[in-house]
Amino acid sequence: MSDYDTIVVGGGISGLLSALTLAKKGNSILLLEKTDALGGNCRTYEPLDFPGWRVDTGVHAITELLYGPLNQLKQYFDPGKFPIFRRHNDYYIRKKYGLEKFPSTLPSFLKMDALPAKDRLMLAGDLLNTLISRAIFGVKEKAVYDVISKHEFSRKTMQFVDALSYLLSGLSMKKTSVSRLLEGSGFSSCGKRGIIRRIMEMAKLFNNSGYRSQGYPLGGIQSITDGVIGSFPKNVEYHTRQEVLKIEQDEKGFCVSTPEVDYFSDRVVYSGEVKRLPAIIEMPVKWSRQVKELEQATAMTVWLGLKEPMPEFNYNGSEVFFDVCDTDKEVFYWLMPVPELSPRNKSLIGVSTIIDPKNCHDSKEKLLNTIYSLVPALEKNTEMIHTQIMAPEKAAVSLNYFPSIKTPVNGLYVVGTDTDMRSMGITRAGYSVLELLKHY
Ligand SMILES: Cc1cc2nc3c(=O)[nH]c(=O)nc-3n(C[C@H](O)[C@H](O)[C@H](O)COP(=O)(O)OP(=O)(O)OC[C@H]3O[C@@H](n4cnc5c(N)ncnc54)[C@H](O)[C@@H]3O)c2cc1C
Repeated sequence: MSDYDTIVVGGGISGLLSALTLAKKGNSILLLEKTDALGGNCRTYEPLDFPGWRVDTGVHAITELLYGPLNQLKQYFDPGKFPIFRRHNDYYIRKKYGLEKFPSTLPSFLKMDALPAKDRLMLAGDLLNTLISRAIFGVKEKAVYDVISKHEFSRKTMQFVDALSYLLSGLSMKKTSVSRLLEGSGFSSCGKRGIIRRIMEMAKLFNNSGYRSQGYPLGGIQSITDGVIGSFPKNVEYHTRQEVLKIEQDEKGFCVSTPEVDYFSDRVVYSGEVKRLPAIIEMPVKWSRQVKELEQATAMTVWLGLKEPMPEFNYNGSEVFFDVCDTDKEVFYWLMPVPELSPRNKSLIGVSTIIDPKNCHDSKEKLLNTIYSLVPALEKNTEMIHTQIMAPEKAAVSLNYFPSIKTPVNGLYVVGTDTDMRSMGITRAGYSVLELLKHY
C-alpha cells in the first residue's frame, strides 16, 4: 500500500504549484525539499548582515500575467491568496546621458537611435523575413547568429543582439534559437498554430500588447510562494531539509528515499534539475545522455540598498545596458528598482548579469564599476550591497533537446524550467505544471 498518491520532489515554485493543483484535485501529496526553506528561486529574504533590507532571489518581472499559466492556475489558490501584481511598465536602454525606451514594436525599433540606421533597417528586414517564413512554412530552428551574420553589422548592433539573446535565453546569440528571441520578445507564440493564426500573429509587430502584460508581485516574489503554501489543503504534507537521494520503482509503485526515511507513492513528480535525475533513479541510457546535454546559464545579481531614492531610478519597469562595459566580451546588465522591499525612505535596485561560473572572481567589481560609471552619484548613496549567484532557469533555451513532462518511466513526471520551453522563469514553471495536469 502506498502512503501517498504522489510524492513531489523539490519545493521550488514548480514543485509547490504541482502539489497545490494535484491536492486540490483530490490526490494525497507529500512534498520533500532539501533546503530549509520552500520556494527555491522564488523567494524574498533578509540578508543576514543587513537587517531591515529585503531582497528577491534575482531581479524579477513575471510575464504573460493576463492570459498565461499563472492566470490559469489562479483558480487553485484560496480566496485572497493569489498575489497582487503591480504593472511592470517599460524597458529602457541606459546610455551615458540617460534612458531611451526599449522598442516593443517594429515602428518604434526603426526610430530607436541607439543603433545605426542601416543596421536597424536590415534587422527589421530579417525580423519580417523570419516571421513570414515561419508563418508560411512553420518553425525551422536556427541560431540567431546564423540569421544575422550574413550582414556586416556594426559592433554595437552585434552587442545589442547578443545582449537581447542573453536577456531572453541566458545564452549568447550563437546558442540562442530564433524562436526563443521571437517568443521572448512577444512577436510569436509557442505551440501548434494554423497558418492563418500565424499570419494574424504578425500584427504584434505593430501592437505588441501581450509583451506588456508583465507585473511585479507586491510584497516581493515571496508572495507567490506564500500564496501557494497558504492555499495548501489538508491533503498536502511537506518537509524541508529532506533531500531525496534515491527513487526506486517496483510493481506496487515508487519508494522515495531520504537519508532517514523511505516513503511510498503511486506516482512521483520530480522538480529538481532533470539532468540530475539519472543519479537518483535508473533511467534509460539514451534519455540520460540527452538530459546531460541541457545547458544552464549562471546569473550574478547585486542588490544595492540606497540611503535615499534617486531620480535616476524613478521609473516603473526595468533597464538594460550592454555597450558600456570595459570588457571585450558582449555582456548585458538588467536593472530593476524595487522600492517596496527597502526600509522606509530608502530605495533598492537589483542588477543582474550572466557570468561564467568558472571565471567570475572579478565579475562583481566589473558590474559595480559599470553601474557607478553610468550613474556616478550612486556610489556615495549606497549603504547595502548583497550579491547572489544563481541559475535563472534549470535549462537555458538553446538549440538543444528539451525533455517533456512525461519520462520514460511510467508514473514519473518532471516539472520546472527545464521541461517546458515557453516563456520564462516562473511563467515557464507554470506552463510545465499545466502540462503535468493533462496527465492526471
Ligand atoms: C537573476 C534571476 C532573475 C530572474 N528573473 C526572472 C523573471 O524576471 N521572471 C521570472 O518569471 N523568473 C525569473 N527568474 C527565474 C525564476 O525565479 C526560476 O526560474 C523559478 O523560480 C524556478 O522554479 P523551479 O521550481 O523550476 O526551480 P527551483 O526554484 O530551482 O526549485 C527546485 C527546488 O527543488 C529542490 N530540490 C532539488 N533536488 C532535490 C532533491 N533531490 N530533494 C529535495 N529537493 C530537491 C531545490 O532545493 C529547489 O528548492 C530569475 C532567476 C534569477 C536567478
